[in-house]
Amino acid sequence: MTHQALFWIPVALRLALVSVVGLAVGYVWGLLAGVSIALLALAFLLLQQLFYMYRLSAWLEDPEQIRLDDGGGTWTEIFAKLYRMRREDQRNRAELAEWLSRFRQAMSQLPDGVVIMDDVLFLEWCNPVAEQHLGLSLATDKGMRVTNLIRSPEFIDYIILGRYEEPLTLTVDDRKLIVRLIPFENRRHILVSHDVTDFERLDQMRRDFIANASHELRTPLTVINGFLEITANQPELDGPTRARHMKLMVEQGQRMQHLVEDMLVLTRLESMDYPLREEEINMRELLGQIEAEANALSAGRHQISLVVDGPDLRDNTEELRSAIGNLVSNAVRYTPDGGQVDIHWSESDAGPKCTVSDSGIGISQEHLSRLTERFYRVDKSRSRETKGTGLGLAIVKHVLMRHDAQLHVQSEAGKGSKFTIQFPRSAMLLRQG
Ligand code: ADP
Repeated sequence: MTHQALFWIPVALRLALVSVVGLAVGYVWGLLAGVSIALLALAFLLLQQLFYMYRLSAWLEDPEQIRLDDGGGTWTEIFAKLYRMRREDQRNRAELAEWLSRFRQAMSQLPDGVVIMDDVLFLEWCNPVAEQHLGLSLATDKGMRVTNLIRSPEFIDYIILGRYEEPLTLTVDDRKLIVRLIPFENRRHILVSHDVTDFERLDQMRRDFIANASHELRTPLTVINGFLEITANQPELDGPTRARHMKLMVEQGQRMQHLVEDMLVLTRLESMDYPLREEEINMRELLGQIEAEANALSAGRHQISLVVDGPDLRDNTEELRSAIGNLVSNAVRYTPDGGQVDIHWSESDAGPKCTVSDSGIGISQEHLSRLTERFYRVDKSRSRETKGTGLGLAIVKHVLMRHDAQLHVQSEAGKGSKFTIQFPRSAMLLRQG
């Protein structure tokens, strides 16, 4: 049945019934009785309509509390439709609320900050990362103009100029952010912030490393080129002078070679696909070899002692040799003739440890935290005199990081140094049987 038929048929039936009853009564008891009965019936129908209208008005006022009855005739259909519309509306609202909550959850997981603003840049919503990046607080700042919350002059200029296709680099509390405003529907705006502090720091480290490495290589190369030019331009140079130049060139060539070898070791240590091969290490044997190398380097100028009373390790021999070897060679190189170098392998509560102490020149406090930076030297000329590359302790740091071990340095200028490598207990080799 069509909508119109559904509405009009009950109305027509009721009017027909009133007319039939009115006519019947008029026929039996006279015209006045018939008209009176018809009017009474019409009044009853009118009252019924008014009653349902009142119910409808009350329900519209408070649909949660009031129930609509079935209604009579046409009202049944109207009430049913209203109920359906309300149920659909409730379902849509629930779906929308769930979708919104999922959207917010997804936005909260983003590593970037997201701020949603209306057409006049009033804050509507932002995720926790944006709160951190831009110093916002959704709870207290909602509804405030974003230019009153992010007060950096660069940001305000960016908003005023309106060149939003370009991102803006913003510094907030030592953090470097790339922010970008994206207009979207109804002239609303999204502000996205991306933290590039770590990337910038790494990039700066890379630039510094290249600059330092080039500088380190240029010095010996300049010396070698200088002597080569002299030799080429002065064929009359006597044999002993020529031999002296040759010796100096060989020394500079060796220096460059050490430097390149150390840089390669560092690169290899940093590369992720360089696997750590673990083997059983006889520490007495390994430390004995390191002691022998130290004696060769010292050439009898120092007293070198070795005490081994710690366990053997399961670890990578070459990396361990490189880390401990660097500490021992530094102890010899930074200890004046006649000094003492002690190597002690022992076990503590935290795990096995290797201590290398010397009675050398020591290091003053302000340098201690920077010793493991690449090319950091307390005294450049002393490092070069003793064939240092400035990369030894950077290599030690990288090796130890790969082994979950830690380096502790105690030192005082003029009073010697003590370098300790603390290994985790898990590195100990537990012999079976
Ligand atoms: P280098 O090749 O210059 O020795 P390292 O990275 O091994 O480079 O050491 C960095 C700096 O730390 C050295 O230049 C030196 O100034 C200081 N240093 C390292 N070990 C010692 C030590 N045992 N005694 C005094 N100074 C040291």
